[in-house]
Amino acid sequence: MASPQNNSVLLLYTGGTAGMVRNHDGVLVPFDFEQIESLLPELQRLPFQLSHWATEKPIDSSNLKTPLWNELAEVIEREYEKHIGFVILHGTDTMAFSATALSFLLKNLHKPVVFTGAQLPIGDIRTDAKENILTALEIAGAEAMGLPVVPEVCIYFDYSLFRGNRSIKQSSDRFEAFSSPNFPKLAEAGTHIRFHQDFFHRAVGSFSIQKSNFSNRVATLRLFPGMGENHVLPLTTSPHWDVVILRTYGSGNAPSEPEIMNALRQATNSGKVIVNITQCMSGRVVQDTYEVGRQLSEIGVVEGLDLTLEAALVKSMFILGRGPFDSGSFKKEFQTILAGEMTASSEFHH
Ligand code: ASP
Repeated sequence: MASPQNNSVLLLYTGGTAGMVRNHDGVLVPFDFEQIESLLPELQRLPFQLSHWATEKPIDSSNLKTPLWNELAEVIEREYEKHIGFVILHGTDTMAFSATALSFLLKNLHKPVVFTGAQLPIGDIRTDAKENILTALEIAGAEAMGLPVVPEVCIYFDYSLFRGNRSIKQSSDRFEAFSSPNFPKLAEAGTHIRFHQDFFHRAVGSFSIQKSNFSNRVATLRLFPGMGENHVLPLTTSPHWDVVILRTYGSGNAPSEPEIMNALRQATNSGKVIVNITQCMSGRVVQDTYEVGRQLSEIGVVEGLDLTLEAALVKSMFILGRGPFDSGSFKKEFQTILAGEMTASSEFHH
């Protein structure tokens, strides 16, 4: 793990608002990395060397395609020994998905991979890009006794560092764009950066990447009062999905209506996997809390515990994309903690 390192951080640029410029209609479009470099002369003053890499074409992250996740993982694997840490400049819209994907692809990571971006372009007077980028770089370059301080994939935004696979984009217009409602912050930046080391996910074993084709044979269904089997059947009977993520009420509850329950039962009987994720902003699914949740356990629905929807989707896509689908082994792997993305029931105290 403690290999001889160059004093260097690698900045990977994929696009996003931070590097965008306004075109003649005032609409934001992605721009090259040179834009950022010229507007951020502080990059020359960092206490380590800065190298950079950029995608062929910067994108608005709403246009993200999943092969980019493997591409980023491959670059990090190739460059792993040469750098103390990595910063990925990325659009905020899908940043939580990408950070989650990287946390699974980069197995046994021992160095920082810090995603960041901005709500306002770097050329705007009130931009948040400068602070976000510079502090993310400082975090990626932070070492203690010759070892990187942060050993995992995270998101740095608005003075806070979050675990990537626990994060959600919570606001489309506040500078505080991210939060991790079910997990404490990993660090807070004020005049000093305070790392909360007790919360770090520390992997054991040597670093490698495990690629996935990130299958999209997964769908989501959000419950609401008044829905009927017409809403459920198109998903539960379709040959296109192996996994359906059900966004339930509260601690994992669904209406007992036979129409809906029968549709779900049929799906699990036919070999599909149904995962239970709460529609609440925070908290965990414990299906056996109420009668209306227990019925889901009885038909074989998998508890998604305190996973975010983003993490449940990416984890499903990751597992499905690594080999032929088999509901038994899918469930087993889904219920395994891969990179600190959920809290095991045994660790959870009421
Ligand atoms: N639409 C932009 C993106 O995700 C938003 C941002 O970067 O903040 O690329």
